Amino acid sequence: MVSVLTTQPLDRPLDYLAPEGGVADGAFVMVPLGPRQVLGVVWGRGLGGFDLKKARRIHAVLPVPPMREEMRDFLTRAGDYTLTSMPAMLRLATRAPGLTNPPSMQKVYRLGEGEPDRMTDARSRVLAVLEEFGGLAFTLKELSDAAGVTSSVIKGLVKQGAVFEENTPRDLPFPRLDPALPGKTLSEAQQAASDTLREGINSGRYGTTLLRGITGSGKTEVYLEAVAACLAKGRQAMVLLPEIALSAEFLSRVEKRFGARPAEWHSGVTMTERRRTWKMVAEGGAQLVVGARSALFLPYRDLGLIVVDEEHDSSYKQEDGVLYNARDMAVLRASLAGAQVVLASATPSLESWVNAQAGKYRRLDLKSRFGSAALPEMRAIDMRAEDMPKGRWISPRLQSEVMKRVENGEQALLFLNRRGYAPVTLCRACGDQIECPQCDARMVEHRFLKRLMCHQCGESMPIPETCPKCEAEGTLSAVGPGVERLTEEATELFPEARIATLSSDLFASARALKQAVETIATGGADIIVGTQLVAKGHNFPLLTLVGVIDADLGLHGSDMRAAEKTFQLMRQVAGRAGRAEKPGEALMQTFQPEHPVIRAILSGDEEEFWNAEAESRAQAGMPPFGRMAGIILSSERAEEAFEAGTMLARHDGPIRQAGAVVYGPAPAPIARIRGWHRVRMLVKAPKGVALQRAVSDWIGGVRLPKTLRLSVDIDPQSFY
Ligand code: ADP
Ligand code: ZN
Repeated sequence: MVSVLTTQPLDRPLDYLAPEGGVADGAFVMVPLGPRQVLGVVWGRGLGGFDLKKARRIHAVLPVPPMREEMRDFLTRAGDYTLTSMPAMLRLATRAPGLTNPPSMQKVYRLGEGEPDRMTDARSRVLAVLEEFGGLAFTLKELSDAAGVTSSVIKGLVKQGAVFEENTPRDLPFPRLDPALPGKTLSEAQQAASDTLREGINSGRYGTTLLRGITGSGKTEVYLEAVAACLAKGRQAMVLLPEIALSAEFLSRVEKRFGARPAEWHSGVTMTERRRTWKMVAEGGAQLVVGARSALFLPYRDLGLIVVDEEHDSSYKQEDGVLYNARDMAVLRASLAGAQVVLASATPSLESWVNAQAGKYRRLDLKSRFGSAALPEMRAIDMRAEDMPKGRWISPRLQSEVMKRVENGEQALLFLNRRGYAPVTLCRACGDQIECPQCDARMVEHRFLKRLMCHQCGESMPIPETCPKCEAEGTLSAVGPGVERLTEEATELFPEARIATLSSDLFASARALKQAVETIATGGADIIVGTQLVAKGHNFPLLTLVGVIDADLGLHGSDMRAAEKTFQLMRQVAGRAGRAEKPGEALMQTFQPEHPVIRAILSGDEEEFWNAEAESRAQAGMPPFGRMAGIILSSERAEEAFEAGTMLARHDGPIRQAGAVVYGPAPAPIARIRGWHRVRMLVKAPKGVALQRAVSDWIGGVRLPKTLRLSVDIDPQSFY
């Protein structure tokens, strides 16, 4: 008798009879549950305690390597940490379709060398999809779905040699990466950092290193050396990236360094490739996985290194479904696997900085940029002293600086972290602001799409001609700037310049975006108007000026991380300038140049900023010096959510006994999303308190209505 954890939402593993010949712990199995067969993992010995005659038998053992004990441990610990049920954890670990299929042959399709006799719309879509995914193979169905064509279009292309059809075993190993190929010649600082990382890898033990270095200092080259050391030891490595859609540049760097492409794991990967990656990771047929945070839950056979690039990036914290921070889970996983972690960033999270200060993490600094590139000069433009016409956001001083760059044949970036045309649409007759009908959020005008959109739920509507409230005609006006409006202003101010706008919503696909980025990088634009999207990792060698339109934007609001995030974002954006030979400059328009955060950004004294920030968090008992859990109660009825909150607040015994405190209920900063009313509670505890246990005892002890949704977020990143 064995106990089997299934992916079904049950509160515990169930007992089953082992099949003839027995079954190993960790084996992936199909078991009957009611009328169905469901996926599960043998979790240990049966618990018994019921009539043996009623026990059902394991239906099949799947032909994949059993889940290793280390992985089972990881799922259990991660589930305990994030207060996530074990079935939900198992679902994270089995996100590969067709695991239950037997190994067999299948036909796959990839880009061929021939040219079709004539190009049709449908044919070009097929080729576009194949190009976009590089060398990846598709099944017929995947390809026809992705391209939106019938299978006969693909067969036609096969006849002409434009598409290759191959008969392959499902799930081939990935091409071998060769760690012995020579890397770049490292600078002295890079070499020293790389030596330290190699030592860590060679120890075969767990350790975490914070690799800090400004953008362009050569961190990637350094951690690729750690990857090489890991592969040379025959262990597997994983590199997590935040903006996986933009990782093409990284993949080709890997290919140059190791002679083959790594396995990829992210939402853009085809189902066929997903299952192949999952299996090959388990069997050792994939040495390196480059992926999004969910790659953490792949069944590595022998994981020796996890790199978390841009470790401070907020996308590592999953904000829906299972709430986990990939950075923290990477450290947990590595500590169980005897693996090394490299956290790379130009602007580390306060958490990692504090851990390095405390000696929990090793810290390596790359202080200068690689080669001749210098860090940009940073200066403030005091907007109180600028003569700004109404409806304008580019100050005369910024304008003249941009002009100089354009005349020199260099590029300038105008940065504004706001998508759309204008954040507010106001009726000048009645004063009403158009809001989302389902959310507590304003509708944002997207003039390019000719629609108003809700950035919370995605709801959109045509821009109305009359005010929805008072029905006055022609009284609606756009208030405040978004990137589209900034582009409009730039077009008026610089009529001769070629202007490109980079905002995630303006591109239909990752491919279109990549194309635009490449065009800009090779000099296809004089002025770039962009959102946060440009802050991440792109290389624009001609860019010498960054103008931040509103440096104060992130400083308002109730978020405890506002200062940290603004600091990081401003430094990242400024880091875009002057990456090649010509020096860069960053100008930040601000109404409060004496604000401590703005001053810290300008002075470039990062240690001082982190010290001050750490101090103020420590005083307030905020993370990482204290612990927090965010609770969101949501309901279709506001009263129900509040009543539940009040009830929880009243029965906070387990929280108080643990030495923690409950705050709330209070309306969440976004009080309604998709029609659900949201009420927030916050639990704050001193460091060292067993917060998860206290929270689960507390919530478990209160009966809540079934119509209510409750989510717990341990170590919340943001409150919304
Ligand atoms: P980071 O990851 O810190 O932003 P990268 O590793 O991407 O920095 O390096 C920035 C640029 O400098 C890249 O184009 C990279 O190829 C180049 N580079 C870095 N180190 C070296 C080196 N040792 N030799 C040659 N080029 C290098
Ligand atoms: Zn909405």
